[in-house]
Amino acid sequence: MGYNIAIDGPAGAGKSTIARKTAKQLGFIYVDTGAMYRAMGVFLMREGIDPADADAVSAKCTEADITIRYENGEQVVYLNGENVNSVIRTEQAGTMASLTSQNPDVRKKLVELQQRLAADADVVMDGRDIGTCVLPDAQVKVYLTAGSRVRAKRRYDELAAKGESCDIEKIEADIIERDRQDMTREISPLRQAEDAVLVDSSDMTIEEVAARIMELVSDTVD
Ligand code: C5P
Repeated sequence: MGYNIAIDGPAGAGKSTIARKTAKQLGFIYVDTGAMYRAMGVFLMREGIDPADADAVSAKCTEADITIRYENGEQVVYLNGENVNSVIRTEQAGTMASLTSQNPDVRKKLVELQQRLAADADVVMDGRDIGTCVLPDAQVKVYLTAGSRVRAKRRYDELAAKGESCDIEKIEADIIERDRQDMTREISPLRQAEDAVLVDSSDMTIEEVAARIMELVSDTVD
């Protein structure tokens, strides 16, 4: 097994920014598992599958070939051969991912892919169930969170910077609903692993959070 760092937490807590930065600092591979669930969500949406129809989701998900490649140090997600990196970043794809990730067959397929990626590489992996299910033996586990208003504001600023108009109230409502779905589902709900370190980034800068994680990594090698 390589050296594994697991970062879990609710939507918009800054997991991907922190995981990418930490991976770069350590020369590890960054594995964004949410992107895989998003690609699956996009696939099922395009196929016109009703996310509430569990049998249809189970049957159809076998037809999605999701693979990960690293191009210029960035993770690129391929869905049946198509680079879907840009189409998975919408709120609609996030919502569809949250609904369809409740399906056991979807999870089984993607967890296997994630475990294969971490088996012989040093990785920083972020998601919802990494510390609890995917990499239970990870050397460092972090549960990264922040207040819902702070998370909504960060999303809002991101969208505004891209010139997209948006409503902060709506973003916050979407975030709260997605957290509820992720925390209350039956299989692998979002929760802090017993041996995970809680980091609340509400009043922390990206640099401070990254430094905290580097500290946790140093603690394991002393
Ligand atoms: O992290 P991101 O917002 O890209 O994740 C999209 C959705 O994918 C989450 O709301 C969650 O339902 C699902 N997901 C999951 N398990 C993971 C990563 C993401 O269920 N490890």
